[in-house]
Amino acid sequence: ITCHQPTGPIETTMCDYESLEKVNGDLASTLDDLVKTPFFKYFRVQLYRDCPFWQENGQCGNRGCGVTSVDESEIPEKWRAAALSKVERTPGMKHDLPGCYYRDSDFCFFDDFTEGEYIDLTANPEQFTGYSGGSAWRVWSTIYEENCFGISELSLLKSPSPAEVSLPDTMTAAFDNTPDSGPQCLEKRVYYKIISGMHASISTHICYDNLNQSTGVWGPDLDCFINRIAMHPERLQYIYFNTVLLLRAVSRLGPYLTAYDYCTGDHSEDEASRQMVQNVVDIASSVGKFDESVLFRGENANVLKEEFKTHFRNVTRIMDCVDCHKCRLWGKVQTTGIAAALKVLFELDDKTLSPTSNPNLLQRTEVVALMNTLHRFSESLRAVDHFRKMWSERVRNS
Ligand code: FAD
Repeated sequence: ITCHQPTGPIETTMCDYESLEKVNGDLASTLDDLVKTPFFKYFRVQLYRDCPFWQENGQCGNRGCGVTSVDESEIPEKWRAAALSKVERTPGMKHDLPGCYYRDSDFCFFDDFTEGEYIDLTANPEQFTGYSGGSAWRVWSTIYEENCFGISELSLLKSPSPAEVSLPDTMTAAFDNTPDSGPQCLEKRVYYKIISGMHASISTHICYDNLNQSTGVWGPDLDCFINRIAMHPERLQYIYFNTVLLLRAVSRLGPYLTAYDYCTGDHSEDEASRQMVQNVVDIASSVGKFDESVLFRGENANVLKEEFKTHFRNVTRIMDCVDCHKCRLWGKVQTTGIAAALKVLFELDDKTLSPTSNPNLLQRTEVVALMNTLHRFSESLRAVDHFRKMWSERVRNS
């Protein structure tokens, strides 16, 4: 069981596990290089906003949670706050798009352009930070409560009081809100897979880049992976599912991404980034086989889609309740990246995705988040492969 290796079709996609595994080595190594380039490594984010839903205690004294920001002078001029606020104020920019593609119609709450700081993601890698306990559990359980569709009021309004948080049954109820607990629509199942897959991917990174607190040595912790992921095969499957979903978005965005203005001020650097993006798009086109058109059909399609969006937007806001800045940073990167993918799949048609007619369709933040999130998932799959080898070795030696 612990060495579970799924085979055959990845549920609700048209891709199979083997095909994805076959290309993942190339995908991960191309993304390794891409996310180190200036365009993709600097992420603008507001990490110091208060939790809008409850009062946090401030566990951030934890050393592993620290994040170092970058001085704006190191950032290409075009992305500095002053330049960005000028772009933001350009009259009619949002209305130049055909249809109604306003910023508040997508799946994510953005940090304001001019707020926050630039973080060099490569200098602040996602890894074990020691963040755990009531605060982390509360965030995860609130996120899973957002999987409650068909209610008129937001489940956030009913989130448990701090006193309730320590009660295991409150938590269990939220985490048990799985798609297997009764007949459910495809959209709800997809929503759950996205959340659970993101949680599983984060756990995989924590287990892979783990600090052994007794020896002080960093390295992969097989037992951590077995307990958190391998003992729950569906969680592993959802990492694959999310990867396919992101790849599908990247594949649809292919022409847009390859024509994107990666303007860092260094022409050869930009061309190198563009070539790497092209390589990722090529891989995405071969395995990013997800049919988004089967979702949000039926009678109440629009209502369901609005609900889906509201719930995912809330997940992006809940990130301000993550009481560990490094975890919050990567939580924001990944929820923004997934939100960008959902927007591409469910909000935008191929005509709109044209780089010539809609060059401002995606903000830089979304492009950076999308590629870094794909990198997170692809790296998780690479880590899974490593854990399988560790497991085989353990079995051989036992
Ligand atoms: P948790 O991972 O906290 O899970 C709580 C409960 O959720 C589990 O007991 C289980 O019932 C259920 N569950 C677990 N995984 C899944 C799944 N995939 N699908 C469905 N249900 C599941 N810690 C770090 O060290 N580094 C980080 O970078 C980091 N980033 C984080 C980002 C966010 C947004 C959040 C909310 C937390 C982050 N954490 C991070 C904390 C980390 O995710 C765990 O909460 C912590 O390690 C404690 O783990 P745990 O074993 O108690 O279970």
